[in-house]
Amino acid sequence: MIRIENPKDCCGCTACASVCPHDAITMKPDALGFLYPRVDESKCVGCGLCEKVCQFNDNYDRSLNLPQPIAYAARHKDINEVMKSRSGAAFVAISDYILEQGGVVYGVGYKDHFRVAHKRAATKEERDEFRGSKYVQSDLTGVFRQVREDLKSGLTVLFSGTPCQTSGLNTFVGKKLRENLYLVDIVCHGVPGPYIWRDYLAYLEKKHASKITYVNFRDKELYGWKAHKETFKFENGGGKINFTYLFYQHIMFRYSCGVCHFTNLQRPSDVTIADYWGWQRTDPDFNADDKGCSLVLCNTEKGRKLFEVVKDRMDTIPAELANVMQTHLSKPSNVHPKRMDFERYYVKGGFEYAARKTGMIGWRYTLTMLKKRLKKQMRK
Ligand SMILES: Cc1cc2nc3c(=O)[nH]c(=O)nc-3n(C[C@H](O)[C@H](O)[C@H](O)COP(=O)(O)OP(=O)(O)OC[C@H]3O[C@@H](n4cnc5c(N)ncnc54)[C@H](O)[C@@H]3O)c2cc1C
Ligand code: SF4
Ligand code: SF4
Ligand code: SF4
Repeated sequence: MIRIENPKDCCGCTACASVCPHDAITMKPDALGFLYPRVDESKCVGCGLCEKVCQFNDNYDRSLNLPQPIAYAARHKDINEVMKSRSGAAFVAISDYILEQGGVVYGVGYKDHFRVAHKRAATKEERDEFRGSKYVQSDLTGVFRQVREDLKSGLTVLFSGTPCQTSGLNTFVGKKLRENLYLVDIVCHGVPGPYIWRDYLAYLEKKHASKITYVNFRDKELYGWKAHKETFKFENGGGKINFTYLFYQHIMFRYSCGVCHFTNLQRPSDVTIADYWGWQRTDPDFNADDKGCSLVLCNTEKGRKLFEVVKDRMDTIPAELANVMQTHLSKPSNVHPKRMDFERYYVKGGFEYAARKTGMIGWRYTLTMLKKRLKKQMRK
């Protein structure tokens, strides 16, 4: 049976809980809300399926991969779609096609009060909620089994998520059902904990004495694509926020993100989508308006064929692999040295206490920002 000795060894994909024929595994949250499997030994018969399905290691399945991915710079021809998506709206182009063929799409949206979770969409209206990155680990409870049911009933399914999620699903569904399953992963540098996100929203609502009604993790309308700044709307007006700062400090990441096995070009998916940082190396005009540009990697023959049929919906340029490399295609993120302290402080005094103690908010944060601004001015 699965036993997690070190939290780094588990990405929380839920494959083990989904595969257990005796429902002996439940996903339980740790202090930051990251889910880990817990086995009820009274139900376990020792069949070993949970260990076999676990793909969070260097031997994950790449049997369908091309010798190397085929890369493109891509941007949807409809600028409205580009503005609503995180990068060049490659996801919308691909998922539109699957839905038009009568298939279903799984992606990340919200449940309850902006709780980040995977959901199923059978129409474009339902799918629209998945547009845009949500920089929090999504809840996958029950989703892998739902995907399997869809595949068994003959539906074509597109599942999009982080590489650790697509890798887990790939092994969970098995070779036979994989035929009608399209896996789309993102280049991923890590996920913050669900409880931190929940508490961060509560902290903002307290500060603004108002309920949040809208979240945009990256507001292109106001700040452009490369700025990566979010906006929130409150019942009583707007507000300036710094979740992005917290995110990029890697202080509330899942431990597995610091040893991620998927930060390379051997992708556990048919198609990879990402921000195309360094797009200028392929064409200096492609994203000159800073509205966003996708990197697309076709990783399998199935992914290549899928991209061929949706390509007309986008402006695309073939890209050399050497020109698409970014940090998270070559190594995992460095998790913040105070990551463990952050968790300890969080358990002791909650989000505000932990964030103040580690300089993510409060006077330490203000001082860091001041120093940064000063340095910038001195360089001019
Ligand atoms: C946590 C996270 C880290 C990322 N890190 C990088 C990075 O280091 N480098 C890089 O180039 N790109 C990164 N991205 C990907 C990038 O932000 C865009 O999502 C990607 O370029 C797709 O953009 P798009 O315009 O095609 O479609 P969009 O409409 O913006 O894409 C949305 C897609 O992302 C999926 N998605 C959204 N939130 C999540 C989530 N929490 N978990 C799993 N899937 C999610 C949706 O299901 C949908 O398929 C990251 C995304 C996330 C969510
Ligand atoms: S060994 Fe088999 S029965 Fe036991 S938890 Fe794993 S999958 Fe379930
Ligand atoms: S990585 Fe996935 S399959 Fe492996 S133990 Fe964690 S949740 Fe289970
Ligand atoms: S960095 Fe790796 S382990 Fe962390 S969420 Fe992304 S794919 Fe999963």
